[in-house]
Parts: sequence; structure tokens; C-alpha cells
Amino acid sequence: MLIPNYAANGKSTNGQNSHQPNYETPLKSNAFDLSDEEKVTQIEAHFQEIMNVLGLDLTDDSLKGTPRRVAKMFVKEIFQGLNSKDKPTISLFENKFQYRQMLIERNITVKSFCEHHFLPIIGRCHIAYMSTGKVIGLSKLNRIVDYFSRRPQVQERLTMQISNELKIVLQTEDVAVYLEAEHMCVKMRGVEHDHSDTVTSEYSGKFLNENTRAEFLQAIR
Ligand SMILES: [Zn+2]
Repeated sequence: MLIPNYAANGKSTNGQNSHQPNYETPLKSNAFDLSDEEKVTQIEAHFQEIMNVLGLDLTDDSLKGTPRRVAKMFVKEIFQGLNSKDKPTISLFENKFQYRQMLIERNITVKSFCEHHFLPIIGRCHIAYMSTGKVIGLSKLNRIVDYFSRRPQVQERLTMQISNELKIVLQTEDVAVYLEAEHMCVKMRGVEHDHSDTVTSEYSGKFLNENTRAEFLQAIR
């Protein structure tokens, strides 16, 4: 039987779609040909046109700076995590005490953007892993969540991207990610329900074990 090799994007190298799910953010191959400054200039012009079409008077003092402000916010803040040059660099180091139990980082702020409506997703992420005896700077866990949040997202993919990155960085399969978030596209439009939120989770390695998972879930309650 021929087993195809899989490229990093989850597609088989012979060009056919694999059964392996693809959790990559869909990006054009030339996504980073333009510099950030060039992107800001182009988005500014397009956003100005959106405001124009809406009938807003862009000579008004309060409005005239908005297109550029929005363009800079998109490129340099809210969607900064699209570019892998901004991916946090992580190094692990050995620890003397050889801690090999569960480590949980709770209540990591998630500020993302729904890719279907371009409205905020605000929530919290809880991460756990079984240490292999190596140590990661704890704030690096927050930085990984932040990096993948700063993209147009769907919560399911965000959860998987965080989980996959943690497995690579922490050099272990024993990873749990639990994400609870409120979607402004549910609250402000469509059904306009204020009190629902969305929970997604991904467990692998030792967290597939019921007791281990229960210990984690107990801790984040
Ligand atoms: Zn949405």
C-alpha cells in the first residue's frame, strides 16, 4: 500500500486532499509580499470607501482619521498573528527539580476576531500539559494563545492551532486546551443572544485518560 507523505499544510504532497484535517489558517501563497506599510495604505483606501458608501462625511473631524486608524489596527494589532515572523520564539530549559506532574495555566485572555463577521471573540483559555522535566517560561503559554488569537478565526480552529503548537513547543503529546469565549456576532446581530458562550476543547496524550482529564477540569472550575 502506498502511504502518501503529508506536507505541513495537511495536504498530501501529490496534490490531493488528505484525510488529515487541516488546521492552518487559509492564506494566499503571496500573503506577505506586501509590507505592513503597503497593507495599511491599501486597507485605508478601501475602508474609506466603505465609510463613503455608508454615507459618512469623511471631512468631519471625528471621522477623517478613522480609515487609517482601522487599517493600522488590522495590520499591526488585531491580525498581527497572521504573519509567522511574529510567532513567539520559545525555548525550553532543564529544571533541577524534575517536575513531571500536570502544569495548568488558567484564565489566559483570548481576544480574537470571528472570520465570518469580523466581530470580536472574547474569552479565556486554560492550558495544561504533563511536563517532560523541561521548563517553559509560563508567559510563553500566554504568548502562544495571543499569537493564534490575532487572526480572523473560528473558535474550533483556534483551539486546534494552540494545541498543535503546544505539542511541538513542549515536545509532548500530553496537552489539554479548554477555551470558553463570547462571540459578538451572536450577541450583536443574528439571534442577538446575550448570555450564551461557546466552549471548545482538545485533549491528547495522557489527557485522553478520564482521571487526568477530570483533574484538569476540576482545577479550572
Ligand atoms: Zn461570527
